[in-house]
Amino acid sequence: MKFKRIISSLLVATMLTVPFVGCKSTKTPSVDKTTEQKPNVEKEDKEDNKLEGSLITAEPTTFSIFLNFNNMPFNPEWRVWQEIAKRTNIHLEGVISQSNSNEQEAFNLMVSSGKLADIIGYVDASELEKLGRDGGVLPLNDLIKEHAPHIQEMLDNDERFRQTAVSLDGNIYQIPKNQSLLTAEFWWIRKDWLDKLNLEVPTNVDELYNVLTAFRNEDPNGNGKKDEIPLFDRAGHKMPDEYLYLWDTSTEFYPRNGKMTFEPMEENFKTGVRNIVKWYKEGLIDPEIFTRGPKSRDILLSGNLGGMTHDWPSAGDYNSSLPESIPGFEMMAIAPPADQNGVVKERTMRYPGVGWSISSQAKDPVTIIKFMDFFFTEEGSDLVNWGIEGETYVVNEDGTKSYTDAVMKSDQTPLGYLRSLGVQYRIGMSQDAEYEYAFMTPAAKAAAELYNGNPEWFDVTLPPYLDGKLGLKYLPEDENEYKKIMSSIRPYVDEKFQSWMLGTADFDAEYDAFIAELKARGIEKAIEINQRSYDIFLGK
Ligand code: CA
Repeated sequence: MKFKRIISSLLVATMLTVPFVGCKSTKTPSVDKTTEQKPNVEKEDKEDNKLEGSLITAEPTTFSIFLNFNNMPFNPEWRVWQEIAKRTNIHLEGVISQSNSNEQEAFNLMVSSGKLADIIGYVDASELEKLGRDGGVLPLNDLIKEHAPHIQEMLDNDERFRQTAVSLDGNIYQIPKNQSLLTAEFWWIRKDWLDKLNLEVPTNVDELYNVLTAFRNEDPNGNGKKDEIPLFDRAGHKMPDEYLYLWDTSTEFYPRNGKMTFEPMEENFKTGVRNIVKWYKEGLIDPEIFTRGPKSRDILLSGNLGGMTHDWPSAGDYNSSLPESIPGFEMMAIAPPADQNGVVKERTMRYPGVGWSISSQAKDPVTIIKFMDFFFTEEGSDLVNWGIEGETYVVNEDGTKSYTDAVMKSDQTPLGYLRSLGVQYRIGMSQDAEYEYAFMTPAAKAAAELYNGNPEWFDVTLPPYLDGKLGLKYLPEDENEYKKIMSSIRPYVDEKFQSWMLGTADFDAEYDAFIAELKARGIEKAIEINQRSYDIFLGK
């Protein structure tokens, strides 16, 4: 355990210089006056056995919370959080104004003010871990061991949850939002276009090229114009390299057989980019892929223009809304087309995500961790996954749950409605896979069943790979250097890739100089740092 020793000495060194020192100890209440919770921790422990039902404290207790998920600042008025307060005696008071939509700005403002909310959630786990190393949020390891048996059980039994929770310095600074669903994105194709042109479902990248070429040239939308956009993606603005997966490559880091690689430096990248350049030139890829933005899918499907995409289950939702205006419209999920080596693989998967932390300024962390544990009990989990029994869901005779019409037939999407009540918020919890199945459209259900039924397409031993990036954690001593190197390399690679794809620069002519420039910018050091993080991830 050489690693552990290095880290603890580093931690001590860091603690001497950070702004939140002095608030580190859970036994020393700070002078913060934003909350009204009782400071007497020991007394409360003794009262445990007397509390009824799910009560966490004998008296109503309030904690402040910093959380803003999808531009929705925490709102204690949400129906489900009112119910949670009633059942636990714990009431949360949001510190972000309801009109604030800039999560990052609000977070930076709070941190620089030095006045922290009792509970802190943030979109970026590495920022919470950094705040932890600076003494702003508590290491939760012992608090969990002593007071949160349900969280401890999940840490002991769910390796992906544990890896998300534990920082590379060995501390747990945040309780993650666990995911039990594995599948994220699927390859979706216009089944009615395939049928119209008498085409089979493409099973490999060469067949896919032929299908997309037919979509381009044979007028499947029947308007007499060559206006079809065979391949499109609403995430093209943030992960423009998604189609490179078809040749088992990307513009990112990717481990193979234990060895970390930066894929632009590998052979598959040349094959991938040369094909992408050709496909783009032949009009198989959306000419506005980089600029059309998140509404691409709505625009291209409702305009009867788009043919195929790589996207979430919601791509199947159009089957209920569009056939009225586009007779026969049907999106269908198909297996990932095999790459040039005949391998079928799906890179995108879901992973446990960031949850919430306890501030070092909180006066009663023991009560807070008990409250956080509540969401990993069956009762707490049902509340944040399903809402309130009889209102938002019912339990069927076979024990399964179904959402009520209030959810399924509201003006919003089922998920939108649930979120408006505070259900499925971004807190430390375990997301119940069944919740999503309960409102999937038939096409989405078929997609999920197809991909879940073929676990061999997924490499579950990989580190998180979401939004096209490896989600590795970095050692405190590596993190700044890594970020610095990549802040120079990342935009350079994106810019080059775009220029090759758009045809404004020649890939083969520039490739050697491109590699030389990557090396000059420190790519080998970045690979080395990623290898170190990956080795720790693997438990080496
Ligand atoms: Ca047409």
